Amino acid sequence: MTALGDILIQRIRATGPITLADYMNECLLHPEHGYYTTRDPLGAAGDFTTAPEMSQMFGELIGLALAQAWMDQGAPETFALAELGPGRGTLMADILRATRAVAGFHAAAQVHLVEASPTLRAAQAKLVPGATWHASIETLPDLPLLMVANEFFDALPIRQFHRYANGWQETVIGVQDTTLTAGLTPPAPLASLDHRLDDTKSGDIVEVCPALTAITGEIGARIALHGGAALIIDYGDWQSQGDTLQALQNHETVDPFAAPGMADLTVHVDFAALAGAAAPAAFTRVTPQGVFLERLGITQRAQALAQNLDGAALENHIAAHHRLTHPDAMGHLFKVIGLYPKGATPPPGLTP
Ligand code: SAH
Repeated sequence: MTALGDILIQRIRATGPITLADYMNECLLHPEHGYYTTRDPLGAAGDFTTAPEMSQMFGELIGLALAQAWMDQGAPETFALAELGPGRGTLMADILRATRAVAGFHAAAQVHLVEASPTLRAAQAKLVPGATWHASIETLPDLPLLMVANEFFDALPIRQFHRYANGWQETVIGVQDTTLTAGLTPPAPLASLDHRLDDTKSGDIVEVCPALTAITGEIGARIALHGGAALIIDYGDWQSQGDTLQALQNHETVDPFAAPGMADLTVHVDFAALAGAAAPAAFTRVTPQGVFLERLGITQRAQALAQNLDGAALENHIAAHHRLTHPDAMGHLFKVIGLYPKGATPPPGLTP
């Protein structure tokens, strides 16, 4: 068992089983032993890789889409250019490079990064000097908000409920001998899940992400009040069902309870919950990443970049284009949703 595992076992022995949300929160962000707190997990040498780490095209196109949204809303002379969970800072660095030529955009932009991990903040500071860091979205300035979040919401802790007759049993983590094991609470009715009684039957599983609701509510309120737009990219579906918790270590799926703090834990994002929480802002249709990037012109950009490449670099470039857009790779699993003020133009590449 890991050091964090021992801490959790002691705590559970003393005070009883913990929810999956508590477990995920400790595993990902424990100040001393948390997965994100203690390491840079990205890239080939890490546990997983993300779209901005695969190709500069991803950040370039997102940057130009945000710049277009800024112009569509009258090019406000000061705004917050914000990112949630920026990882190594690659996406924001690509956004800034691609928008250098957009007249007035850099002069108006204040770069704000919301990041919980000190290790990743240090990495971001190298690629995005001059940014301002925040522990949570509440401290962002009261300005028009142009925001991106890639693979951020899938890292937020969920609670998981199993339907039983007309009640629900919650997944909780307990201790058996010397290992952590998942179990279920006794069934009980739960008013907050009444709206899921229609689309589920006994035995089905639903997941609830309280942090997603809170954060998206804040983003929606800011966009409705100050203007701006948010592009949120992640894997998931309109209304998720089933157990979506996954643990990744060295690019492989592992048991989520075997090595707390040493594996990445992720869940699928429920875009219906996200859109619902974003009122009073408007939201676009949930669009597959491949379709979104094609609409923004990734093929033309890929061809232009290919002109200056050959050998292994050209092969990598073609493979990255394929991975980002093809339905068999990330193109369909990953989805994009845009938030924008009611009555304004939706962000480029997305439709109401
Ligand atoms: N967007 C990046 C990294 C994705 S990994 C990319 O596409 O490469 C998830 C990121 O979210 C990491 O930077 C992690 O430290 C951060 N993170 C996870 N939970 C967080 C939370 N509750 N508050 C702030 N940042 C968080």
